[in-house]
Amino acid sequence: MAASYSPTFVKPDVGYFPGSVNVGIVRGKTGAILIDSGLDAQTAKKIKKGLDEISQPLRAIVQTHAHADHFGGNAYLLSVYPDTVVYAPPLEEAVIRNPILEPIYLNMGATPLAELKNKFLLAEASRVDHLLPEEGEVEIDGVSLQTISLPGHSWQQVGIVVEQICFAADSYFGSETLKKHKLPFLVDAYETLQSLHKLLDTNYEGYLPGHGPFETSTRQTIHENISTHQHLMAKIEALLKAEERTIEQGLAAICSSLEVSLESVSSYVLYRTAFMGYLVGLQREQRISYRFANNQLLWGC
Ligand SMILES: [Zn+2]
Repeated sequence: MAASYSPTFVKPDVGYFPGSVNVGIVRGKTGAILIDSGLDAQTAKKIKKGLDEISQPLRAIVQTHAHADHFGGNAYLLSVYPDTVVYAPPLEEAVIRNPILEPIYLNMGATPLAELKNKFLLAEASRVDHLLPEEGEVEIDGVSLQTISLPGHSWQQVGIVVEQICFAADSYFGSETLKKHKLPFLVDAYETLQSLHKLLDTNYEGYLPGHGPFETSTRQTIHENISTHQHLMAKIEALLKAEERTIEQGLAAICSSLEVSLESVSSYVLYRTAFMGYLVGLQREQRISYRFANNQLLWGC
């Protein structure tokens, strides 16, 4: 039997289920609204027990973005609460409804290698009933939620603000997570930095990232995230200044310098996509460019 899993409330009606992936909870008029749903059925079963303990049936799930560890609990939760309404940002919703798209894009659009079809990259599909506005207000079960556009880690990721508490998704990572990741996953370093600066201009009463602790002031953590990305961008720029490189060569060089060893297809594709996200960011800042030579796409300064 799944162990119980009680939510931590930071406001009378707003809280979260803490975990390696935090799941937000808001008490609505008639039941609970979750912000994301965790990795898998096992997590979702614990959430169900937690909801039973506080006598809250599930009414809605609001997705911040379409990574498997944020919507993998949907299938189980929708099976036990079939009337649950699911909200997701545009584009992200396509992946939630067709999760195979994640291993497909990670494998450069080709048929995913079998090793990529694991629960961290391929969640069970879920329906999506409503699109979230990129920036705006949505009322669910009598509660007003505000979306803020925070792209960069994922194309159309949104943060959700309820009663001055900001569920910031993976726009930033807690300090520990940030150090562990070395090359944090992102699809566009430029957008990631824009989103971080946008968060710095906010002043909510509390912030909860997808991976990391709840904080009443998040300025220091956001500054750490900004300097990590800037440091990595400078490092990649220097590598390409020293020598033009293909994506594969650049990835090997940055991994060596960060003491990362790539030994599985999963970590290889995640690092490769993140590396590409940094290249795109540097290119958008006009710090690097590419050219073709000998049938190779070469990145340099
Ligand atoms: Zn994510």
